[in-house]
Amino acid sequence: IAFAHFGFDEALVDNIVKHGYSEPTAIQKQAVPVALSGRDIIGIAKTGSGKTAAFIWPMLIHIMDQPELQTGEGPIGLILAPTRELAGQIYTEAKKFAKCYGLRVAAVYGGASKMDQFKELRPGGIEILVGTPGRLIDMVKMKATNFRRVSFLVLDEADRMFDLGFEPQVRSICDNIRPDRQTLLFSATFPKKVERLAREVTTAPVRISI
Ligand code: AMP
Repeated sequence: IAFAHFGFDEALVDNIVKHGYSEPTAIQKQAVPVALSGRDIIGIAKTGSGKTAAFIWPMLIHIMDQPELQTGEGPIGLILAPTRELAGQIYTEAKKFAKCYGLRVAAVYGGASKMDQFKELRPGGIEILVGTPGRLIDMVKMKATNFRRVSFLVLDEADRMFDLGFEPQVRSICDNIRPDRQTLLFSATFPKKVERLAREVTTAPVRISI
């Protein structure tokens, strides 16, 4: 399969090729069509597999399809990541491709100024937000943002979020997002506790393992 076979428009295909990607990776070939169909996904994939783009591209298309894109505020696509480092990598990958639709991306994580992040989120709003669970909750409490518009949710490296003790925050965030959302959960390993969370936060998921 080539990128155009996903049904992506020319602007996105051109942008992908411009970034030097010549063909989709294994996880992209499997996950993108499923995500575009609107199904939830439980993906077993490691960093380095190209999983970030596998969820970012369908997220962009989902956002462009939303009738509430022009109204309201707060992200439509939300990505939870375990660490500042991973949140930064996802932010970079999202920015590359969000550009061709004029969508705005922000990242929030611990260890950096809350006030700076507050200011980044507040004025015109954003459509895609990536962050570590604790800092995302802080931003909602500070009313820098809200999750009312979120309808595409990604939990990345779910196993590491558990290892770092973020389970309560992850559950609290999932509980506060509309239940008819689309949810994609990725994890490098799949212990029982991740399995349980995955079953609770997804609906009739398609399992993909590479
Ligand atoms: P990830 O697993 O999402 O962290 O991606 C690992 C690296 O592969 C990142 O630097 C991506 O920019 C890059 N990448 C993702 N998809 C492709 C692709 N289809 N072709 C070439 N490189 C890619």
